[in-house]
Amino acid sequence: MSEYHDFYTAQLAENSTVPTLLCGHCRSILPAKRIFANEGENRYDLPCDTIGLCSADDCGAVNCCDEAMRAADRERDENRIAV
Ligand SMILES: [Zn+2]
Repeated sequence: MSEYHDFYTAQLAENSTVPTLLCGHCRSILPAKRIFANEGENRYDLPCDTIGLCSADDCGAVNCCDEAMRAADRERDENRIAV
């Protein structure tokens, strides 16, 4: 399988109360149900632990969510300290 060589890096939306990931290609919101662990029989051949599939009709990009998830974790930690 070589059709997933092109992938994008998901971005963390700023100033959102709930961590929201954006498609690195078209910047539309990645639905939570299309973000999943890259493992098991659905595994994509990508160097990422978490994959997000864009649901925009004209995009459909495969996004690597690792960095955005880490950023979301950091943000959560900072919020916890602030509260
Ligand atoms: Zn997209």
